[in-house]
Amino acid sequence: MFSLTLVPTDALPLAAALPGHFVVLRFRPKPDEPPLLRSYSLSNLSSPYAYRVSVKEEINGAASSYLRSQVRLGDVLDVSTPRGSFTLRPGKGPVVLLSAGIGATPVLAMLHALAAEGSARMIWSLFGARNSMEHPFGILSSIKDDGIRIRAAMNLKRRHTYWLGRS
Ligand SMILES: Cc1cc2nc3c(=O)[nH]c(=O)nc-3n(C[C@H](O)[C@H](O)[C@H](O)COP(=O)(O)OP(=O)(O)OC[C@H]3O[C@@H](n4cnc5c(N)ncnc54)[C@H](O)[C@@H]3O)c2cc1C
Repeated sequence: MFSLTLVPTDALPLAAALPGHFVVLRFRPKPDEPPLLRSYSLSNLSSPYAYRVSVKEEINGAASSYLRSQVRLGDVLDVSTPRGSFTLRPGKGPVVLLSAGIGATPVLAMLHALAAEGSARMIWSLFGARNSMEHPFGILSSIKDDGIRIRAAMNLKRRHTYWLGRS
């Protein structure tokens, strides 16, 4: 997995994003072929200055391989405004977030938002991974400093790992 930070070329503020929103990237790996369009959830706090997306590199994946191996700092990509209906519902009640694999990215944005607002809500974030190689330790560790305590529960016998975050 790798992350890209996308900043506007015109220095104008970016459209606001809700935690859980995704953007559509459009790029053309081969000039003589149609462009690729791929959706990526924002994996960080909404900011008027930058969007961050986190991409799982798929074996033989056209877009993820291109983004990983060809895109360089300073390159320009077409990026849509943030969109989607899978967003964190405001409120005071408990929050339960379920995700697996790279599906953790919108949940990560939600956890960042809850941490940033100093939410007093009870938060349970359950994450499933095929094995320890795919656990989200790297991305989850980035929110530890924001005040969310992370507890882990592992079931190695069944080769599944569940990460529990609780405020
Ligand atoms: C709302 C939304 C949010 C998303 N958020 C994220 C996110 O945050 N992070 C993220 O990484 N992804 C996210 N995705 C998925 C992302 O949009 C792409 O689908 C993903 O990156 C794979 O694109 P790709 O071009 O790399 O792979 P593709 O080229 O589309 O290939 C997909 C898979 O099919 C296999 N494949 C391709 N061609 C063949 C073939 N001929 N025969 C057999 N197998 C084949 C590839 O090996 C690969 O494993 C999201 C999708 C949606 C809809």
